[in-house]
Amino acid sequence: MIENPIPWPNGARCAVAFTFDMDAESLLHIYLGDTAHNRPALGSLLRYGPEVAMPRIIATFKRYDLQQTFFIPGWCIERYPRAIRLVIDNGHEIGHHGYIHEKPNQLSLDDERHYLRRAIESIVNATGARPKGYRAPSYAFSHHTLDFLLDEGFAYDASLLGHDIPYLLTNGTGRLIELPSDLSLDDWTQYVCIRDFGNMLPIAAPERAMEVFRAEFDAAWRHGALWIAVWHPFVSGRASRCDAMAELIEYMLSKGGVWFARLDEIAAHARKCSDEGTWVPRIDQLPFYDGPLGGVPRQDGVRAG
Ligand SMILES: [Zn+2]
Repeated sequence: MIENPIPWPNGARCAVAFTFDMDAESLLHIYLGDTAHNRPALGSLLRYGPEVAMPRIIATFKRYDLQQTFFIPGWCIERYPRAIRLVIDNGHEIGHHGYIHEKPNQLSLDDERHYLRRAIESIVNATGARPKGYRAPSYAFSHHTLDFLLDEGFAYDASLLGHDIPYLLTNGTGRLIELPSDLSLDDWTQYVCIRDFGNMLPIAAPERAMEVFRAEFDAAWRHGALWIAVWHPFVSGRASRCDAMAELIEYMLSKGGVWFARLDEIAAHARKCSDEGTWVPRIDQLPFYDGPLGGVPRQDGVRAG
């Protein structure tokens, strides 16, 4: 089913990473800045992430002795030291997720570089080390992002959706490991109904949501793929969903042959296999296009931005 399967460590059938994007109130300030101060209900919903959900999620993973990757905007790192302490003290990885959840593809080249560096500083101040991994806020990778990530020495990106297993991105001069996910593994589409953000999808019961996540896992297990969830503490850290997550972990453990890992570990493994020649990754050249195609009519039906 997969043309160029990657050998996983110790003969594992698949690799699994539950990753969390701890966005907290960065979403409120970046998207609704002018009126953010007058939206305490939405603020309280988003603060539930670092204040209530994070200790619960960290305790859940501690129970199974598993380490994960948390993508956290720099502003949130500075704002929520207790949650950050828990992440660091329990051996989890902190990945770069913008400074205040700004979308790179809506910034100028200089602003994108500025906020990328500002958030690197936040991570260095908190952890003592530069981040190895990056996930663009709202998957909004720009046509400059790969260049900046290579310049800043990142080991991997986890923003794109182009394969079932790791692959490489190149801008013609450097190469970066891409660890792809899929929208079916994002909890937003299952659980988020926030009128203020224009998200008006029905909220799924945890059992129904888990059917989707579990089906993706079963296929990953059968075919040797990479399973990366993109979950949000304020969303998936609610008690009912956290219980369902723990049941999913137990299901995966009982199935066996699963490599649970942080994304920096998966990226290092992919790099090693590629360097040693035990696996030949697909390589995507970015950007896909230098600009608009031209000569193509613009039609209704897709809202830009
Ligand atoms: Zn985010």
